Amino acid sequence: MATNNFSDLAQEKGDQSLWRAPKSGERGFSDSPQSSPSDAGMGYPSGGTSEAANSMTIAHFQQLIRNMYLKKDVARGIEGTFMWLMEEIGELAAALRHGNRDQSATEFADVFAWLTTIANVAGVDLAEAIYAKYGRGCPGCLKWVCECPDSGKP
Ligand SMILES: [Zn+2]
Repeated sequence: MATNNFSDLAQEKGDQSLWRAPKSGERGFSDSPQSSPSDAGMGYPSGGTSEAANSMTIAHFQQLIRNMYLKKDVARGIEGTFMWLMEEIGELAAALRHGNRDQSATEFADVFAWLTTIANVAGVDLAEAIYAKYGRGCPGCLKWVCECPDSGKP
């Protein structure tokens, strides 16, 4: 059976951008003209097209959140921001249990946004952190399809 991992899939599709961590100086809208929004704003087009959604990387999103909220986030601090994250996680739990898919999707977005906010205040580059831990497969067994024992947390 052929090895089937994300790297192979990415190469088959000719997509080298999968799991590629941004190099320094490369993140932020001003540094990536192809995906830059217009000068009028720092956000993405409001059409909600999947094309626009697909153009948003984790690094872009973290920069977007940084641009929108960093001043407020720093003033609030990590502890206050962490409370907001916990509140949003509670709302996600409620939406998954009682809501529909759209409501759950909104709460996933909120949780990720608040997680990103805390990363900004803590000075953590999410894309680099995720790539460092998960970019080479499961952190536990280093396989692209986890083979860790079910009893263990990978
Ligand atoms: Zn594993």
